[in-house]
Amino acid sequence: MHTVEDYIFWSYSVLTVTRVMMECEKAGRNHPYSGGRTKASNIVMSKYQNKIFNISNLDRDDALAQMAAPICAHCGDTASAYQLDHLIPRSKIKNDYIGLNQVISCSRCNASRGNKDLMEWYRQNMSFPSLGVLRRYLKLCYFYAKQRGYLNLPVEEALLSGIPFDPRKFPEKFPPVKVLIWDYAYLGAQSRGP
Ligand SMILES: [Zn+2]
Repeated sequence: MHTVEDYIFWSYSVLTVTRVMMECEKAGRNHPYSGGRTKASNIVMSKYQNKIFNISNLDRDDALAQMAAPICAHCGDTASAYQLDHLIPRSKIKNDYIGLNQVISCSRCNASRGNKDLMEWYRQNMSFPSLGVLRRYLKLCYFYAKQRGYLNLPVEEALLSGIPFDPRKFPEKFPPVKVLIWDYAYLGAQSRGP
């Protein structure tokens, strides 16, 4: 039986490890995880569980969002008119306000997603979010669940209680580092499909 927190911590741990691997690759250094990404993620996860690591607040994401270029956060498209897409669907949170829940989106991604669960939509598109978007989404889900007492519930119970995202859809495995994007908004102008 897994709790909401288990799902968030696992995905966030793989993200943490993947981010380090990405940085090392960019700098032309070997990454420190000779035992592989899964093993390293297990070690990192136990640190989140034991509160040696903590999921950081959204201040940094806020600062990055302020500086972001007007590029679709989902596909990197620069050509279309921009809309705002809610990472946790607005229809599921009703009148709850969640700061930083909106990302810039092209009209095509926004229309295609509708009010689908973020990760379900990516999966349907056989695509994977940029790590910047995934990090922000996991943090939003974590703090939302924490504030409302969902974190330690078994996931099925949380879903029955109306949690507005599906923790079972958080990515458990990530694609190889070389095909991942950190954040479309910092790549400069370019256009690429999902
Ligand atoms: Zn798009």
